[in-house]
Amino acid sequence: MNIEEIIQRVNFLRKELDRLNYEYYVLNTPAVDDFVYDCLMTELTELENQNPELKSSESPTVRVGSDITKEFVQVKHKYPMLSLSNTYSQEEIEEFDARIRKETGTDNIEYVCELKFDGTAIGITYRDGVLVQAVTRGDGEQGDDVTANMRTIRSIPLKLQGTGYPVEFEIRGEVIMPFSSFNRLNKEREEKHQTPFANPRNAAAGTLKMQDSSEVAKRGLDCCLYFLLSENMPFDTHFDNLQKAASWGFKVSPNMQKCNSTDDILTFLNYWDIERKNLPYDTDGAVIKVNSLTLQNAMGLRAKSPRWAVAYKFKAEQAYTPLLSIDYQVGRTGAITPVANLQPVQLAGTTVKRASLHNAEQIELHDIRIGDTLIVEKGGDIIPKIVGVDKTKRPEDSKPLVYAVVCPVCGTELVKLSGEAKHYCPNESGCAPQILGKIEHFVSRRAMNIEGIGEETADLMFEEHLIHNIADIYDLTKDQIVRLEHMGSRSADNIIEGISKSKETPFPRVLFALGIRYVGETTAKKIALAFRSLDAIRNASAEDLLQVEEVGDRIAQSIVLYFADPNNAAIIERLKAAGLKFEIETDGNEILSDKLKGKNIVVSGNFSRPRDELKQLIERHGGKNASGITSNTGYLIAGDKMGPAKLQKAEKLGIKIISENEFMEIINEPQ
Ligand code: NAD
Repeated sequence: MNIEEIIQRVNFLRKELDRLNYEYYVLNTPAVDDFVYDCLMTELTELENQNPELKSSESPTVRVGSDITKEFVQVKHKYPMLSLSNTYSQEEIEEFDARIRKETGTDNIEYVCELKFDGTAIGITYRDGVLVQAVTRGDGEQGDDVTANMRTIRSIPLKLQGTGYPVEFEIRGEVIMPFSSFNRLNKEREEKHQTPFANPRNAAAGTLKMQDSSEVAKRGLDCCLYFLLSENMPFDTHFDNLQKAASWGFKVSPNMQKCNSTDDILTFLNYWDIERKNLPYDTDGAVIKVNSLTLQNAMGLRAKSPRWAVAYKFKAEQAYTPLLSIDYQVGRTGAITPVANLQPVQLAGTTVKRASLHNAEQIELHDIRIGDTLIVEKGGDIIPKIVGVDKTKRPEDSKPLVYAVVCPVCGTELVKLSGEAKHYCPNESGCAPQILGKIEHFVSRRAMNIEGIGEETADLMFEEHLIHNIADIYDLTKDQIVRLEHMGSRSADNIIEGISKSKETPFPRVLFALGIRYVGETTAKKIALAFRSLDAIRNASAEDLLQVEEVGDRIAQSIVLYFADPNNAAIIERLKAAGLKFEIETDGNEILSDKLKGKNIVVSGNFSRPRDELKQLIERHGGKNASGITSNTGYLIAGDKMGPAKLQKAEKLGIKIISENEFMEIINEPQ
């Protein structure tokens, strides 16, 4: 590669890794296998090392992958919250030990070996023995305040027991989802035809970032603590501090061990490589830390990881097996997934026959061909992954794979949009899995919430040709429904009633229920509120649509295309005739935005408009009216002649005090 090509590749890798980080840490839906991610990261690290002039403080090689989301308040970490550098072999552990000895100038090193819990990192602050705040790792410098969610985890003490804890300290650990909770959650999701979580890590990270903490409480998270930080530590060793923390009520892993040599470390690693399979939660390795805090402090930190600790990743179990053929599956959104049919092989306790090949790019990346011997792995994921090809076993006459060009169900030519990994079947209104997907979405709880029609009933109605699209639902009669398998007269009545009730669904949800590609719940709400009626949206140009917050090119184009399709136009006319709400109803109380979501607001004093009008605006923008100032107050809207005591209290607690005009600016209402 010449220097221009290297620059191009470096830029491509940085952009790609930033995108993958976002999907992994923020959306909790990894777009590629860890193996592929790690390969890209290694390639970028090598290119940067070979060309130091290209190094950048913005590169993903020196930044912690950020989990920050805008739904939470961000809090700066008192102590940076970093990742760990990885090792994979005995040699690398020996190199780590040699480096530590060299950098500390002593051979008398004690290490602590611990299990590496596979979840999501959390830093919890306690003051005077009481939990005050819990923050995610975020980008290492600041993270999301998820205190309300952490409080729901039963093993987290809200108040400490015992004695000897510092007045203020932070304790760090990993929020995990034990297998029992994970299996229960995925079973529920499958029953509701929701996409199951790929692994307990994604499930734990996704759950910790939910907006509704009562939902978090139901999901059975747990938390193992592995690091204490304070200005006044009880002891000078990591091990003793954690033992002490256990006496205050924290869940500290009993599987920690002090080691004085690489031999001791390797014994620990080899033991747990096997024994971890009997643990009730997922581990993806071990962590080896220098025990002395004095030495830790002397060694310090790198940009992305501490110098005094290292992770050792256990090898996932692998099997080699031939690829017999590939099926192309059509998803509910028309996305095509290639699935490998493998010669059945035993792997980590189960027989593996099929594995997803994800998309054409993945196939190309590994140059996978029919007849190849594939390397299948089962790591933290329950689902087996294809991680490579054993090219030494490739048949001589093998040819590169030609990816599907038409939809296997309806024969329509597939399309691939730029920026998307998957091919799509564009025949939205004529391809069976897509029609069914649209119907299931339409009746679902978050959309029209039609009682009595779950996914199974919707599937049955479709199979029995009672419905061919979403509009047909409103023509169903009791006679037709009652003839379905296992359907009694009462259930049929319920369904008819559910259908009738669904006509009261407010317009934003009806818009979401239509299942326009990329128009999710929030986007539908924003568009509905901006345009007020379906006719206005139908007549809007892409430019008009782009004016709505959160609507980008992709969404705008998709909406325009949706309304341009005569099939959709016909369905909408029928839904309209059935009496669905295609306009915002204006009773003066409808929600205008969620700009003040989660904020408790106190209004005090005299204003240019009646105080009740301000209070109503707070609620219509998602906020809550509160009467007294507390540390949870989001804003104090201060008017003329407000009580001095309130003002003083707000100032003391550092509450943001704003004027009437500033409030109007925040919610973007005319002043
Ligand atoms: P990591 O998970 O490999 O290791 C660091 C983390 O380990 C810490 O932040 C901490 O949360 C955790 N940990 C668990 N037990 C611990 C213990 N006893 N002591 C200390 N820490 C402990 O690092 P990361 O930065 O969170 O993730 C990087 C890895 O994630 C990559 O190597 C890659 O495999 C994967 N990843 C994959 C994708 C993808 O698209 N598939 C994207 C981004 C990252």
